[in-house]
Amino acid sequence: MSLIVQKYGGTSVGNIERIKAVAARVKTWRERGDRVVVVVSAMSGETDRLLALAKEIQARPNPREMDVLLSTGEQVTIALLSMALGGVGCPAKSYTGGQVHIRTDNSHNKARIRNINGARVEADLDAGCVVVVAGFQGVDEEGNITTLGRGGSDTSAVAMAAALDADECQIYTDVDGVYTTDPRIEPRARKLDRITFEEMLELASLGSKVLQIRAVEFAGKYRVPLRVLSSFKTGKGTLISFEEEAVEDAVISGIAFNRDEAKLTVLGVPDQPGVAYKILGPISEANIEVDMIIQNVTADEATTDFTFTVHRNDYEQALEILHSTTRSLAAREVSGDDRIAKISLVGVGMRSHAGIASRMFAALAKEGINIRMISTSEIKISVVVDERYLELGVRALHYAFELHHADGGC
Ligand code: ADP
Ligand code: ASP
Ligand code: MG
Repeated sequence: MSLIVQKYGGTSVGNIERIKAVAARVKTWRERGDRVVVVVSAMSGETDRLLALAKEIQARPNPREMDVLLSTGEQVTIALLSMALGGVGCPAKSYTGGQVHIRTDNSHNKARIRNINGARVEADLDAGCVVVVAGFQGVDEEGNITTLGRGGSDTSAVAMAAALDADECQIYTDVDGVYTTDPRIEPRARKLDRITFEEMLELASLGSKVLQIRAVEFAGKYRVPLRVLSSFKTGKGTLISFEEEAVEDAVISGIAFNRDEAKLTVLGVPDQPGVAYKILGPISEANIEVDMIIQNVTADEATTDFTFTVHRNDYEQALEILHSTTRSLAAREVSGDDRIAKISLVGVGMRSHAGIASRMFAALAKEGINIRMISTSEIKISVVVDERYLELGVRALHYAFELHHADGGC
C-alpha cells in the first residue's frame, strides 16, 4: 500500500465534469489500495478573476486582504471535489491550508512554507478517507491566510508529500509530461520520459511554468519522487530523476523562455570601486530581485555602462530608483526596455560538450534575431532578445538542436 499525493491544476478541475473525472481517477487509485491525498488548484481562470476584482477597487491591493481573497478559489474546489468523491462512494474530507497546519512565513502573496504538521491528514487516511487539501495557501504564525505565489499549488503538493513521506508526488496537468519546450509555442516539442532534477530546476527557474520553481526545490531538498502527468490521458508522464548523469543522450534537454523581465541600463557611470553596489544597493533595498547583470567598460576606461534585468512588475519602480541614483553617481543617462524576452537552453550534457553557445548564436543569427544580453552557467545559456522574436527564437533553437520528434514532425 503506497501513499500518493496527487495535485490537479486549474484546467484539470475547470468545470464540474472535469472534477467528476478527477474523482473517478482518484477512486481507481483507492481501489488499488493506495492512500491518497489530493491537492487542488482553483478552477481555471478563477484566480485571475479574483485578481481582477481586487484591481477594480485598488491598483495595488493590500497584500493581506489579497491573500484572503485569492485563497477562496481553492476552497471552492476542495469542497466540490470532496462531494464528487463522496458521490462515487469514495469518502473524502476537504481542508484549507490552515486547517492542515501548512505554516508559512508572513510574506503575503509569495509566502514560503516553513513546516506542515501531517497528523490530522494521517488520521483521516488511517480512517480510510481521501484527504483533499487546498493548494496555494497556508497560514503564518499569527493565523493570517497567506498564498504561495502563482502556480503555488505545485509547491503545496510537494511539501505535503515531503511532510507525509509519500511514495510519489504526481502533478496532473493539461500536458502529459515535461516537454523539450512549451508545446504551445513549438507543436513539435517532444515529451521527455525522464529529466534530471538539476535540469528541471533550471527550466523552472528560467520560466517553464509546468512546475513552480519552489516545488522543484522542495522535491530536491526532501528527495520527493516527483512525476508530471496528464489528467486527461493515461501514461507514465515525466519522472524527475535524482541521478546525476544525463538521462537522455541529448546535450540539450529543453528550452525555457520568460516574458516577465525588463532591462535597465545606466550609461556613462564613472568607473570606480563600489559602482555596482551603489547602483544595485537601492534596488535590493526596495526588495527588487535582479536577474542578469552586465557591466561594460568604455574604450577610455573612465566610464562604464551597467545593465541588469528585473521582473517586469518591478520595472517602473526600478526605473524611478535608478533616476535618483544616476544623479548621485553623476552618470550620463538611464534607459530601459520592458519589451524583452529571455530564451534559455538547458542541459547537463553542456558540461562535456563545447560549441553549444556558438551553435545557439548561429541559429539566432540565421533568423536575424539580435542578441541583447547573454549569460551562462554550467548547464544553461540564456539570451535576451526583443520580445517580438521570442517564438521564432524558440522554434529556431528547437530545430537547430534537433529536439523535435524523431520522425521530424512534418
Ligand atoms: P496547471 O494549471 O495544471 O498547474 P500550468 O498551466 O501551470 O498547469 O502548467 C502547464 C503548462 O505549462 C502547459 O499547458 C504548457 O503550456 C506549459 N509549459 C511550459 N513549458 C513546458 C514544458 N517544457 N513542458 C510542458 N509544458 C510546459
Ligand atoms: N490558483 C493559483 C494560480 O492560479 C495557484 C495554482 O494554480 O497553482 O496561480
Ligand atoms: Mg501550474
